[in-house]
Amino acid sequence: MADNNAGSLYSTTVIDKDFYAIEENGVRCFLIVGEDRALLIDTGYGNGNIANYIMRITDKPVTLINTHTDGDHIGGNNLFEKIYMHPAEFDYYSQKNNRKPLPIWEGDVISCGDYSLEVILIPGHTPGSIALLDRKHRFLISGDSVSRVPIFMFNQGRNMYAYIASMKKLRTFKDCFDKIYTSHGELVQYPSIIDELIEGAEAVITGNVEPENPPRPLPCKLYRYKNVMFLIRY
Ligand SMILES: [Zn+2]
Repeated sequence: MADNNAGSLYSTTVIDKDFYAIEENGVRCFLIVGEDRALLIDTGYGNGNIANYIMRITDKPVTLINTHTDGDHIGGNNLFEKIYMHPAEFDYYSQKNNRKPLPIWEGDVISCGDYSLEVILIPGHTPGSIALLDRKHRFLISGDSVSRVPIFMFNQGRNMYAYIASMKKLRTFKDCFDKIYTSHGELVQYPSIIDELIEGAEAVITGNVEPENPPRPLPCKLYRYKNVMFLIRY
């Protein structure tokens, strides 16, 4: 079956053995290949067929996990049989997709080949956002919640107070990882960004950051604090 010019839409970066980043027009998904299955983390905008694309890398059956369910992370979900996410995300997901997802919970460890991903619930960006921690390889997959591109904190379900609490929770795991693989912007961030995000988010909610116009027409303002940014409707 043709793959809708997937070759030009997607690109792959090898991060480590059996661990790949797959980019689609500014959003990043991750693929881990094990002996008898592969794990796909997010599915992008869905402008191409990511299921066909990843068959260039693996023919193993794919288990899909969503870090959260903003449109740029779930576009290819319907190409996969089983879709896992934190149940705090189910309501938001059901507004956009009538497939029934399956639950993963905080503390669950999802193993695939040499990798073991531990689920950490980090609400704030969305109610059921998760990060995935591999203690052996010392990395964190953060979804949108950790990034140097503006973090979307407007629209339904966003909560700056929950976000700050979640970043403080991630900070308690800081000794467990050296790298953070993010969904937008640079592939790699480092644990010190978490302190910047906490400081920035606290400065925003206490009114200590001057709002700027957003980089494109959006119903919100841009709040820039040092090297992190938030988009908020204040
Ligand atoms: Zn995103």
